[in-house]
Amino acid sequence: MNIKKLKEAEIKFGNPLYVYDLSIIENQFKELKNGFQNIKNFKINFAAKSLSNISILKFMKRLGTGLDTVSIEEVKIGLICGFNNEDITFTPNGVSFNEIEEAYNLKVKINLDSLESIKDFSKKFSSYPISIRVNPNILSGGNKNVSVGHDESKFGIPQDYLDEIAEMDNKKNIIIEGIHIHTGSDIVELDNFQEAFKKIFLVAKKFKNVKILNFGGGLKIPYFKGDSKTNILSLSNSIKKLINDNSFVIENNLKIILEPGKFLVGESGYFLTKVNYVKKTPNKLFIQLNSGFNHFIRPTFYDSFHEIINITNPNDKKYEYDVVGYICEQDNFALKRKISNVRKGDILCFKNAGAYCSSMSSNYNSRIKPAEVCIWENKLIKIKEREDLNNILNGQIDIF
Ligand SMILES: *Cc1c(COP(=O)(O)O)cnc(C)c1O
Repeated sequence: MNIKKLKEAEIKFGNPLYVYDLSIIENQFKELKNGFQNIKNFKINFAAKSLSNISILKFMKRLGTGLDTVSIEEVKIGLICGFNNEDITFTPNGVSFNEIEEAYNLKVKINLDSLESIKDFSKKFSSYPISIRVNPNILSGGNKNVSVGHDESKFGIPQDYLDEIAEMDNKKNIIIEGIHIHTGSDIVELDNFQEAFKKIFLVAKKFKNVKILNFGGGLKIPYFKGDSKTNILSLSNSIKKLINDNSFVIENNLKIILEPGKFLVGESGYFLTKVNYVKKTPNKLFIQLNSGFNHFIRPTFYDSFHEIINITNPNDKKYEYDVVGYICEQDNFALKRKISNVRKGDILCFKNAGAYCSSMSSNYNSRIKPAEVCIWENKLIKIKEREDLNNILNGQIDIF
């Protein structure tokens, strides 16, 4: 963490501010790529929803990733950024058939996750190969913390329907070219995920046209000193082992895909914001920030932990604070957090603010969204303007 550079960014571009260090993204990409170099036909699709700024997407393209998209808008943005159609996978959940049809017209890879949408698709486009997202239906009720693709999840095709889809595939009513599982959890305990990975191979055997095995995302990054992270080598070894046990993967030259979001961009991001006041109450010190869950919702929404550094005064005596936002709702960023002596006007930095932070921000309370910059080759480059009131008023219709 380059405090000097972050301070410089805040002075130059104001706050609140998102800063992304592209060298960190590049290093994460390399770690993943190197970790999987013993797996043939390995491909990384970046999950666009985690950080969807076009300069970030183009940077991913330069690195050599494809794109995992979940809305037709993300598909279109991916195309605008220059990704090839076949490098974009559209994995919608519960969207209208019109949206799937649009993706078909744009000739991107389509990954469907319900029998209902597959049936609709087969009626119109039976010769266009698609992937299916399978609900691994494991660990249900097992581990509370890792409730991956359990049988009550809205995601994925239930196992019970796979034979029916295989039958459609046999009769050429549909062509299934890919099997996909995305558990959505932070992968730490590989033993648990091994089961889900095994399922991919088991399911793939049911379909004769399979060319792609997609293991989804969900790789974990550490949020504090000593926190766990996905061990990339163990992950690739466990997949490699399954490939070795399933000769059809090599024989048919199957593509192996991972689609991480958080792993690639999470640690690259810093969210900077100013201390409006340090408010004293009889038994607490509140840090009142120039931001709220409108800009940075993960702590409120997911109870997620983000390290907070006082970059104006990093090495002073630490005190315990409740760090709160300015939204007229309970938007706590952190409770009982020890931070180096915080004064009015200091700049605080939230770490791991790359994934699902800016991309989940909103205009709630009619607040404008922050500017965004990246650090690239030691330069600070703006990649998103700070909004102004026009962004809030645009599109509203005044009928009086
Ligand atoms: C969100 C998402 C991902 C990325 O998940 P991370 O936890 O950010 O790695 C991958 N695949 C699909 C289908 C997703 O919806």
